[in-house]
Amino acid sequence: SVKLFVFRDRTKEEETNRLRDEFVSVVSHELRTPLASILGFSEIMLNRSVKPEKAQKYISTIHGEATRLSGLIGDFLDLQRIEAGKQSYRMLPLDLKPLTEDVAAQWDGRAGHAVRLTLPEGVCAVRSDGDRLKQVLHNLLSNAVKYSPGKDVVDCVLRPEDGRWVVEVRDYGLGIPEDAKPKMFGKFYRVDNSDRRQIGGTGLGLAIVKEMIEDLGGEISFDSVLGEGSTFRFALPALDLPAVDEAVL
Ligand code: ADP
Repeated sequence: SVKLFVFRDRTKEEETNRLRDEFVSVVSHELRTPLASILGFSEIMLNRSVKPEKAQKYISTIHGEATRLSGLIGDFLDLQRIEAGKQSYRMLPLDLKPLTEDVAAQWDGRAGHAVRLTLPEGVCAVRSDGDRLKQVLHNLLSNAVKYSPGKDVVDCVLRPEDGRWVVEVRDYGLGIPEDAKPKMFGKFYRVDNSDRRQIGGTGLGLAIVKEMIEDLGGEISFDSVLGEGSTFRFALPALDLPAVDEAVL
């Protein structure tokens, strides 16, 4: 008779278990905190007569916390889908310029920050998925604003470099400590410093950004000086278009 032995990769299994445990603890904390506040404020409103001004405040807290939960679940599902190789990308020729302008306009004036845009002349064509690129740029601008409290401007630059288009987001905020730099794109990784403990987040944003940009054939990188600010950028191969195609973009 023939016996089959299955050799399991112990270390891989242990690492998977460790990541799962860590995941369960981070997610349960991140889910419980907003839920506790939604439950608490809605219970007050159900059980007591609340003055209209207070009611407005409570409802706005409930809405804010529910929005946070919804964002967390969305990010989590996105990352799951990408890691399972199930994220689909609609690759089409597109101009990065209006796309960048669009996302920058959404952030301009938010949380007291102006977005200063620098764009080149002409069409910046790539073959990519516009919705996913918007999501990436949105995450980078969100971080730039979030991690530069008290500053009033972030820069967003689109420029050519060695046959690629580079989209760069620069802030003048907290910056990133040296020991944190290698871990920045890790799932659930957050820099734990007293100056940023109050800032909400899950540590999923940059993990999603990296996976998406790499799936799209691009490259992500950053520079940062602690206390001075950070620059995150992604680069995508430029698409050479005949003039006739440029007209339809
Ligand atoms: P989140 O913002 O939800 O924590 P991210 O994956 O987007 O998750 O970022 C991971 C960590 O990297 C953040 O917790 C933050 O400390 C740090 N970080 C990201 N972007 C910046 C930035 N522009 N400036 C300083 N720190 C940043």
